[in-house]
Amino acid sequence: MARGLKGIRSIEDFELKDQRVFIRVDFNVPMDGGKISDDFRIRQALPTIQYALDHGAKVILASHFGRPKGGGAEDREKYSLAPVAERLQDLSGWEVFLIDEPSRGDAPKNLLQNLRANQVLLLENVRFESGETQNSPDLARRWYGLTDIYINDAFGASHRAHASIDALPRMVPQRGLGFLLKREIEMLESLISKPDHPYGALLGGSKVSDKIGVIEKLLDFVDLFVIGGAMAYTFLKARGVDVGSSLVEREKIAFASEMVQRLETRGKAILLPVDHVISKSIEGEGGVRTTDGVEIPEGWMGFDIGPKTQALYCEKLKMCKTLFWNGPMGVFEDPRFSKGTFAVAEVLAHSGAKTIVGGGDSAAAAKSSGLFDRFTHVSTGGGASLEYLQGDMLPGIEALRQKERLV
Ligand code: ADP
Ligand code: MG
Repeated sequence: MARGLKGIRSIEDFELKDQRVFIRVDFNVPMDGGKISDDFRIRQALPTIQYALDHGAKVILASHFGRPKGGGAEDREKYSLAPVAERLQDLSGWEVFLIDEPSRGDAPKNLLQNLRANQVLLLENVRFESGETQNSPDLARRWYGLTDIYINDAFGASHRAHASIDALPRMVPQRGLGFLLKREIEMLESLISKPDHPYGALLGGSKVSDKIGVIEKLLDFVDLFVIGGAMAYTFLKARGVDVGSSLVEREKIAFASEMVQRLETRGKAILLPVDHVISKSIEGEGGVRTTDGVEIPEGWMGFDIGPKTQALYCEKLKMCKTLFWNGPMGVFEDPRFSKGTFAVAEVLAHSGAKTIVGGGDSAAAAKSSGLFDRFTHVSTGGGASLEYLQGDMLPGIEALRQKERLV
């Protein structure tokens, strides 16, 4: 069971003046043709860094970026944080020094010591070091040589026991979290401790199996489950509905039936699609049609919820005071199959409820809906937000906790 913020200090709890503050950020941004296609994660990290600078800290930033394999020359070019350093400088107005630290001897230490008020140091991609993913104490010790205070503000990476996330903070007595990580934890906690009712969970996406942990966790809190996306077909199949050639996880049909029963015995509601947008393949072979009812003809597959389902879902979701959304209602990347996802996004955004979005693709859908700022919180962590919600301990958060005294 996650334990929220208990025993974890925040950046505001430290005297930062003239201290070397190592901030682990998540600058793992999506790229398209060598350009940053979305700088959301960089923007989200700015307040913590600005706070540290305003309080006289010497700031050193570290992040991973992509999945470099061997750290060879080609990788070093492809996965360099250089474009991030440039964007960070443009967004913030600080002078950003990107340094490839291991080959530089004492240079990083000296540079760090001599930083002026508006300057920050950014370490080159931490995954260029094989020790990062191995959670190497040797690598952590080297970074410890540059650190007085450690701050984790990388929620999206906190579910990984890597050196900059786990081994390093365990070595640093003065360790805590930044504003972004704090908000992520507070928001996700608010979904499981004293949420306002009615409480709806809107779940979709590709697979039931990805979401079982979250479904089981939310079973205790949620009043209404609204199911869309490919996972809806497994639930419909469990009810004996013909879903044509739609994606069904056969080995999860039993789980789906059991869950429906558990919900119904507790007097809770579950909504499944009543019509669908279908085609013979994801490329749209045989055209794109809308079914009249819940059945899907043989040879056809469902790729979005239909208009009746949209209306039904929207009407019920509007009544909720807390809404958690994870998983698109259809293949929203294709405009022919995106209407269901954007219709529910619209309702959530204007509902006046507390609306929290988790999951990488759902966050992308929230962004492309153009209503991003109208959600209470869109998590920066895809996998991490689901792991947190299902009650897993995240190494990056646990590493920050001060040991509890038993007596
Ligand atoms: P998140 O990242 O928000 O947790 P998922 O990764 O579970 O969401 O699911 C997102 C993916 O599910 C999208 O790429 C979307 O195209 C796909 N998807 C949604 N509905 C369907 C469907 N009916 N058939 C096939 N794929 C679907
Ligand atoms: Mg996803």
